[in-house]
Amino acid sequence: MQTTPPPPLFPLFLDLRGRRVLVVGGGAVAARKIGALLEAGATVQVVASALEPGLAALASHRHITHLAATFAPTQLEGAWLVIAATDDAGVNHAVADAAQARQVWANVVDDAALASAQLPARVQRGPLQIAISSGGASPMLARHLREQLELQFDDAAGALAQLLSQLRGRIRNRLPDLSARRTFFRRVLTGPAQALLRRGQAVAAQHAIEAELYAGARHVQGSVALVGAGPGDPGLLTLRALRVLNDADVILHDRLVSTEVLALARRDAERIEVGKHIGGDHHATQARIHALMIELANAGKRVVRLKGGDPFVFGRGGEELQALRAAGIGYEVVPGITAAVACAAYAGIPLTHREHAQSLRILTAQGKSGATEHDWAALAKPQQTLAFYMGVTGLSALRDQLIAHGRAASTPFALIEHGSRPQQRVVAGTLAELPELARLHAVRAPALLIIGEVAALATQLHWFGTPPLTAHDARCSALPLAHAA
Ligand code: SAH
Repeated sequence: MQTTPPPPLFPLFLDLRGRRVLVVGGGAVAARKIGALLEAGATVQVVASALEPGLAALASHRHITHLAATFAPTQLEGAWLVIAATDDAGVNHAVADAAQARQVWANVVDDAALASAQLPARVQRGPLQIAISSGGASPMLARHLREQLELQFDDAAGALAQLLSQLRGRIRNRLPDLSARRTFFRRVLTGPAQALLRRGQAVAAQHAIEAELYAGARHVQGSVALVGAGPGDPGLLTLRALRVLNDADVILHDRLVSTEVLALARRDAERIEVGKHIGGDHHATQARIHALMIELANAGKRVVRLKGGDPFVFGRGGEELQALRAAGIGYEVVPGITAAVACAAYAGIPLTHREHAQSLRILTAQGKSGATEHDWAALAKPQQTLAFYMGVTGLSALRDQLIAHGRAASTPFALIEHGSRPQQRVVAGTLAELPELARLHAVRAPALLIIGEVAALATQLHWFGTPPLTAHDARCSALPLAHAA
């Protein structure tokens, strides 16, 4: 037997300012609904044998009225809407029946069949609201969609709605013709206003909209977002990074950025790999990247410059911003989870620990012109954590310098290859055996090296992927270790 599905519900947004709404129930669910009703300006009356503390406080401050302990149909007199939010099915039924008889819209929490009005799941950004309903078919699905939308829209959407509402009269005066108004809105939506609002520059955003309104067609200025993509696991991208990627016309990304992260960007955005290849001329590559960013932004594009980890940690983000500033191009920076932080977390290594390390140093094994000169005596001090980026080559020299300057040969290290990615490997041991172990396990870039007392905790606290590989691993236990203490 096939039943015909019910017709769709009719969506409606209610102006509840100063209008009476009755809520039956005084628990946590009622409290949530009452919060939303008060926000909408409704005059709320509650019927409940007891009020939860938040509601009791609202009643004592006269923000709501505690009308009675038990429900009676006459309480619906003069109400525009009633919400039954009790856990007593009999009461909920009585409320729904009485509302039906008096032609008052009734919402019954968790009982779509009884209700004449359903409350949608919603996403709210200032005056902008997105309401979602599954018509009672699957509230879980509606909730899931709501979560997706929550991720997609940031506060800039609400701020834009607010700005447009302020300018509404002027927009109508200037562009009485509907199709001209449509073209204008399309320009505003694809223009710089939202990016400016995200940067917290409301005045500049308003100017951009006004310029669009009064100047008509004219050159649109693009901008650049310098975005950190994190270490590879797309779950470690920030919400803001995701939103900016959703908004991009062009993405200039490093080789280090994972394909999983790139897959999250707007589908029709152009993707250009600008990674530096080993042995290539870094200076020329960097100059080309600067020129490309400036050219694209000048052509009106919203450019995302996407880098592995954080753009300001060994990412040349500073140089790129200086080039943009010199060219007068607007920019924003979205931080990312840097490799040291991500690799430590995914290897179970606390970077500081009350007993083992009071400070953290972020270093690179390679400097501007190759080998780096460090203050070795300072690095050799105990009770500190050293995080070396680009730490696959020159490990013998590194070990020798640290030991020569007094760091114990028994200091633990952990080398994390492809941190946070499915193929992550961690090699752990003592400083003395570092280069040999790295060679034995054929560690390749990208890998991060952590040296310090805390590195020993990887064997105890690991949780992601396979446990750390050590000298005791079957594969290498037979091999001699030159510097083993
Ligand atoms: N801006 C980046 C660093 C760029 S330098 C950041 O903040 O993380 C590149 C170096 O970062 C690599 O040589 C490696 O040492 C480290 N690195 C980046 N991603 C990594 C990962 N997923 N696993 C291990 N090391 C990583």
